[in-house]
Amino acid sequence: MASVSEGLAAHLLAALGDGAVLTGPYDMAGYAVDWRGLYHGRPLAVVRPSTVAQVADVVRLCAGAGAPIVPQGGNTSMVGGATPSQAGSAVVLSLERLRTVRAVDPVEMTMTVEAGLTLLQAQEAAEAAGMLLPLSISSEGSAQIGGVLATNAGGNNTLRFGNARDLVLGLEVVLADGAVWDGLRHLHKDNTGYCLRQLFVGSEGTLGIITAAVLRLQPGVTARAAAFCALPSAEAALALLGRLRLRAAAALHAFEYMSGGSVALVLRHIEGTHLPVGAADHYVLIDLGTSAPADPLEATLEETLAEALEAGEIADAALSRSEAQRLAFWHLREEHAEAQKRAGASIKNDVSVPVSLVPVLLREAAALCAVAAPGLRVVPFGHLGDGNIHFNLVQPEGADPAAFLARADALMAIVNGVVKDLGGSFSAEHGVGRLKTGLMEEWRGGVELRLMRGIKAALDPSGLFNPGVIFPGR
Ligand SMILES: Cc1cc2nc3c(=O)[nH]c(=O)nc-3n(C[C@H](O)[C@H](O)[C@H](O)COP(=O)(O)OP(=O)(O)OC[C@H]3O[C@@H](n4cnc5c(N)ncnc54)[C@H](O)[C@@H]3O)c2cc1C
Repeated sequence: MASVSEGLAAHLLAALGDGAVLTGPYDMAGYAVDWRGLYHGRPLAVVRPSTVAQVADVVRLCAGAGAPIVPQGGNTSMVGGATPSQAGSAVVLSLERLRTVRAVDPVEMTMTVEAGLTLLQAQEAAEAAGMLLPLSISSEGSAQIGGVLATNAGGNNTLRFGNARDLVLGLEVVLADGAVWDGLRHLHKDNTGYCLRQLFVGSEGTLGIITAAVLRLQPGVTARAAAFCALPSAEAALALLGRLRLRAAAALHAFEYMSGGSVALVLRHIEGTHLPVGAADHYVLIDLGTSAPADPLEATLEETLAEALEAGEIADAALSRSEAQRLAFWHLREEHAEAQKRAGASIKNDVSVPVSLVPVLLREAAALCAVAAPGLRVVPFGHLGDGNIHFNLVQPEGADPAAFLARADALMAIVNGVVKDLGGSFSAEHGVGRLKTGLMEEWRGGVELRLMRGIKAALDPSGLFNPGVIFPGR
């Protein structure tokens, strides 16, 4: 007699057809491990539906067999959110074949895209129509629209355009009973009861499967100006941010912070990177953009930086004189995660505090970590304009990676202690995933966690979607 898992796999194969259901360990390997290599799951099967109807079929079949579903997009989660457990009972539902651009609408200034389209492909489709999808993260070549929405991704442009949540006007979602909720509306105003779409944004695959979305666009960018600056302190970076906001708030698309230690790792581990300014303990990358051709962006940036130099806020600055140079600045910034991965085991603290308190976070957490683990490399970087710092810690040179990771909880607790004192959050933009469920009770316990559990129970009463993610003990 066939086992439950063999029976389910056969039904999935019948519903989806050849090539859409993977059950061999070799075929499933890439879907079973997270980007950081922290979680190694054992899926019962990996399914790759090509239509929304097929997604609904998968949900109905898995629900009937009592098999949990782990939705997976580009598998770039930093918190193990898209990796199944070791139990061997969960089906990984990859959205990678749902990648149609259904519409780009220049009147509504929206695009309707399927969940499996990568963020980069969506950006390119918007650009081809003369518009801007104002969401940018270093993993955009792999991260998919469904994953980006399920994690409410932030990234480089949040200070100007908001998080993923702020760009969503409509959603299409397959629910736990297999029903398809068609909420693909283009309405800029729509106060009709609860805002259901926002429940699914940031739900990390625990409430339903996002299959498509209507995203809000901006006018296309016609001119850009960027600068890479060396600074004497994190306080100086804040002063520079304030100065830029007074002069060019509407054009300020990104203001990215990088510590000296983190930039040093990029220069060491990523080929073809060069520091365009003198070495320093603190750097920022400024990116201005405009859709008004007459905007004197370069002059504004140059004048602001001259003032900042005079005020002692910057020690050195390089202005991009070409698009290639601007992209080279961004390359230095975007390779931080990869460089840290190559430098050994690392502990990632994706935290946020009020913007004005970032210098306190950087100073206090660094001092405490240095005492707790002599030799460890404190390499923070991130989205300073949002108060979101990736306060990452890389193992001491030559140390045993496993021994270092064994101390991860203790070192994360030190950083989080400072974050809590400053009124911040232990999860700014990456989510809770599997990695941080143990912190939920302490940080969001009581009424808040009870409300979240109530929403989960209402939308997914049998706990079908992504068990073990967000909630402790599931
Ligand atoms: C180098 C690098 C840089 C990064 N930079 C940033 C950054 O600047 N800002 C930022 O916010 N994040 C960043 N991240 C984290 C990550 O890229 C984001 O969380 C991204 O949004 C995840 O998208 P994904 O498609 O890879 O999702 P996955 O990793 O596949 O999944 C993430 C979560 O979403 C769920 N999910 C995926 N697809 C769906 C769907 N269709 N329906 C329902 N649930 C779904 C999964 O179950 C999981 O819980 C970075 C990651 C890397 C590796």
